[in-house]
Amino acid sequence: MVFGGFAAASLAARIDDAKPALMVTADGGSRMGKPILYKSLVDESLRIAEHPPKHVLIFRRGLDPQMPVTAGRDVDWKEMSQQHAGAQVPCTWLESSEPSYILYTSGTTGKPKGVQRDVGGHAVAMAASMRHIFCGHPGETMFTTSDIGWVVGHSYIIYGPLIAGMTSILYEGVPVRPDPGVWWKIVQDHKVSVMFSAPTAVRVLKKSDPAWLKKYDLSSLRHLFLAGEPLDEPTHQWISEGLGKPVIDHYWQTETGWPVLSAMPGVEKTPIKFGSPSFPVYGYDLKLLRESDASEAGDDEKAVVVIEPPLPPGCMTTIWGDDERFVKTYFSTFSKKQVYTTFDWGIRDRDGYYFILGRTDDVINVAGHRLGTREIEEAVNMHPAIAECAVVGVADPLKGQLPMAFAVVRDAALVADPAARMKLEGEIMKTVDQQLGAIGRPGRVFFVTLLPKTRSGKVLRRSIAALAEGRDPGDLTTIEDPASLEQIRNALSSTQTKGNP
Ligand code: ATP
Ligand code: MG
Repeated sequence: MVFGGFAAASLAARIDDAKPALMVTADGGSRMGKPILYKSLVDESLRIAEHPPKHVLIFRRGLDPQMPVTAGRDVDWKEMSQQHAGAQVPCTWLESSEPSYILYTSGTTGKPKGVQRDVGGHAVAMAASMRHIFCGHPGETMFTTSDIGWVVGHSYIIYGPLIAGMTSILYEGVPVRPDPGVWWKIVQDHKVSVMFSAPTAVRVLKKSDPAWLKKYDLSSLRHLFLAGEPLDEPTHQWISEGLGKPVIDHYWQTETGWPVLSAMPGVEKTPIKFGSPSFPVYGYDLKLLRESDASEAGDDEKAVVVIEPPLPPGCMTTIWGDDERFVKTYFSTFSKKQVYTTFDWGIRDRDGYYFILGRTDDVINVAGHRLGTREIEEAVNMHPAIAECAVVGVADPLKGQLPMAFAVVRDAALVADPAARMKLEGEIMKTVDQQLGAIGRPGRVFFVTLLPKTRSGKVLRRSIAALAEGRDPGDLTTIEDPASLEQIRNALSSTQTKGNP
């Protein structure tokens, strides 16, 4: 399963890695009311792929009346279903350790990895997490605002709720169309009890009136779960107060398939700390290890988040077709200890709450001080005018690296002219000084209306940093909107003068 609407080259790369026997697609999808035609993309990807499947099964939604058809290869879904209507297909029994599916990681930090999952462990992990973490009961409804091409969609649009005997809502659309109340109307109309979304979506909602959060009857909703990117404290607070519901930040990866850090309201009610995904989940022997010597970090000390093997049920069993790459990628960070590395920085406070501080390759080294991008982003987000931001480290002849911030303001009027931009830039620098200290102060704050993100909503800091250093932005196969890179380029080359804190 891949995300719909990949460019042909990205799709071909995944086809060649997975070597599928059959491809299934719709004629198109729809985004912001406009049809996105898939079939010509599929044809192009099969032309360039080295291992194209023999057949393509096509479900026609009527979005592409002129859809080209390749005789002998393309097969029509409706014709097939009529032909085989009523056929009895026996169950195929599998060992619990046999593969159930392959799914590629988002590709935020490089070439996507084909995560292979088993059958039995996966089912157990799904069933248990639906009960102990998400509190979903048979007969109820779950609404996960993701795409089934991503792991959140696999686990919590499809397998999790269905294994739990729940109804699952698949929604094709964005949170602000036709208006910013659309999700809450869905919750009301379908009596949703469990909802799962991403911080990036909440930051989109944050640009509109919070009154939308109160317009519909949300009495069926128990919790809102958010994952995918660090959830900054102001956004966490904004959404939880706006909805009047517990909002649970939880942390995991495509590799794990289900939460690693989370509150577990199905086990025990624990107070939520804004900005924290709470505690290690049952089944994970989570450790914070010092990068220097693999020893365990103390409270309030930033370290690498690792999992002591064996990984619990549901986690990846290998990288598809490349066991060696699996061991080399995930289990070889420390020479002294063979542990699974998440490639994320984390910290545990005195109360045992964990915080994820960003990716290990996102660390910024300012005059010998190592700062996570998230720490600085969090400080920038404390300024009430900011909806979201990305901070990257840029090479600096004096300090080694200097943080640069790219911020999206809630109201464009605030940065309409150079004087206003300069004033706001100065204010943001002051905010960072107060929150984090001058060491974290960005060298510059640039204003954009859109950040470069992957199609799963993750900020492409790697590409932003490359542009800021005048390098090639690298592999952009998963970028959501290429215009966002143009904005970064323009901001960097603008004559906007520096604000004085
Ligand atoms: P690739 O591994 O190909 O670079 P990716 O890491 O973006 O892509 P995913 O598996 O979709 O692919 O994302 C998992 C990562 O997302 C985590 O390792 C972490 O960096 C980030 N993440 C997920 N949830 C949270 C969260 N609640 N708080 C902070 N970070 C999170
Ligand atoms: Mg990753």
